[in-house]
Amino acid sequence: MIVVLKKHSAESSRLPIEGYLNANHISFRYVDALGVFVIPKNQQLNALEKFDGIETIIPIQTPYQLTSKSYKNKTSFAVNDIAIGENLFNVMAGPCSVENEDQIFATAEYLSSLGVKFLRGGAYKPRTSPYSFRGLETEGLKLLSKAAKAYNMSVVTEVLDGSLIDEVATYADVIQVGSRNMHNFHLLNQLGKTNKPILLKRGFQAKVVEWLLAAEYIMSGGNEQIILCERGIRSFDPSSRNVLDLGVVPIIKELSHLPIIIDPSHGTGLASRVTPASLAAAAIGADGVLIEVHPDPSKALSDSDQAISFDEFGTLLSKTKTLLAALGKQTDTETPVLNSGRL
Ligand code: PEP
Ligand code: MN
Repeated sequence: MIVVLKKHSAESSRLPIEGYLNANHISFRYVDALGVFVIPKNQQLNALEKFDGIETIIPIQTPYQLTSKSYKNKTSFAVNDIAIGENLFNVMAGPCSVENEDQIFATAEYLSSLGVKFLRGGAYKPRTSPYSFRGLETEGLKLLSKAAKAYNMSVVTEVLDGSLIDEVATYADVIQVGSRNMHNFHLLNQLGKTNKPILLKRGFQAKVVEWLLAAEYIMSGGNEQIILCERGIRSFDPSSRNVLDLGVVPIIKELSHLPIIIDPSHGTGLASRVTPASLAAAAIGADGVLIEVHPDPSKALSDSDQAISFDEFGTLLSKTKTLLAALGKQTDTETPVLNSGRL
């Protein structure tokens, strides 16, 4: 259950309610940034109705509360003037890893020439083997941010660990939590206290309820700017790197108010499958895509099999626009950037 306090009376209303809940041993969390009490156990609390300053009491039957659709119909926010979670299909693209200045600048130049607003790139990379390329770290963040600024794009990049949040937040416009970290509750908790949008990838073995509870960690810290990202789940079948669960899009739309985008690159693991999977993402109602693009895919230092070339990306984007037009939607690549002051 969520008890929403009236905005103007949040402080004066909070204490008597808190006193009542404590006296009755009812476990709760007060989320100051949202002005709400979350009372996770499903119980009858008619007594709460007598307290002043309550806007509404929302009964919620699921373990996730703030991320539930019962709490809110839709979440949308802007990243450097580009709307997320509105009727706009966000296109985020770039290399798996930032490798050097030429690579990231060439990618940013090409993508921005097509109107792409979000430049992705890993500087701290979670790699299965410690001997694989693990990213340029601070240098990678600096190059990524320099390239994004030069082409008026927003940065999407991963944080691997809580100790890196401050550093990553200095350069990122959207902080990515990777699939492996979806269960890192301490990290999620810390991200809940930041004011940066968080792109939360689905753990490759996570149930939908676990994914929404991971998002709940962030939201219960007061940070509502969350983008869910489906990136494929692990199966018994080696014919695909992961199984891209596109059916999860309408499920999330039913259960939650959070925007959901699709990562067809990790979801399929092979360049030739990225375009069909992206089109399917647009058709099934996703809010966007996150795509790995490289100037020379065969030479990519990480995830080279799934990186698409500039030409392939251009074709993907134009097909996506055509498909979305038939659905009465648009990509954000067609949106002019208002905030040209960043340059
Ligand atoms: C990535 O985006 O490059 C990445 C490592 O993704 P995931 O966490 O989905 O494997
Ligand atoms: Mn990758």
